[in-house]
Amino acid sequence: MAVTVKSEREIELMRESCRLLSIVHQKLGEAIHPGMTTLEIDEMGEQMIRDFGCVPNFKDYNGFPASICVSVNDEVVHGIPSKHRKLHEGDIVSLDAGLIYKGYHSDAARTHAVGNVTPEAQKLMDVTKQSFFEGIKMARAGNHLFDISAAIDDYVTPFGYGIVKELVGHGIGTHLHEDPQVPNFRQRRKGLILVPGMTLAIEPMINMGTADVEWMDDDWTVVSADGSLSAHYENTILITEGDPEILTLPDFKWN
Ligand code: MG
Repeated sequence: MAVTVKSEREIELMRESCRLLSIVHQKLGEAIHPGMTTLEIDEMGEQMIRDFGCVPNFKDYNGFPASICVSVNDEVVHGIPSKHRKLHEGDIVSLDAGLIYKGYHSDAARTHAVGNVTPEAQKLMDVTKQSFFEGIKMARAGNHLFDISAAIDDYVTPFGYGIVKELVGHGIGTHLHEDPQVPNFRQRRKGLILVPGMTLAIEPMINMGTADVEWMDDDWTVVSADGSLSAHYENTILITEGDPEILTLPDFKWN
């Protein structure tokens, strides 16, 4: 489908959708603790989304059976919550969540430490998060889309980590996944020119080892091919005339 440019009214609805999602992520992050099951995270997230009068957009999306993707350690994305899967001290857990408010989608992911984690795991999470911020420095009207991809790649690659290539960011609006695709690695082409009113979900997925991934037998869970830890960080952002607005981090200010 075509790349959409949102009207001022649509942007207001996107802002509210994303603001509500930011609260869901905040509360889920505070709730994470050793012993919690991944299903408990999903149930808590779904309840909050529904209490806001919104709909979890991941639920039943292409048959996904839950509202929150909960991916532990070597799981990259799309982990299926389970009552049999407990978080343990030292795990890292990626939560990917989204909701629909008055027809408008939001999408964001955070990776959390469960209790104390190794310095190596913490560094992977920090670099993954920072790579998002390096990417959106380029998310400005007049720049090319793949300037974002190159900035993420240039920041991450010197650490020796693997940037996942099979999964990419995307446009977002009245659909969860709209054009354009937003890769997290350098492209040979420049990509489209960014204009104010575009809303994009930018979401680097970074493995400590190889960039290669595999799909588990459940046909959802993506894991790093070498079993190394993986982190994911995502926000829905708005291209403006000036600095990009991070819609799922409503309190963020550029300095
Ligand atoms: Mg996404």
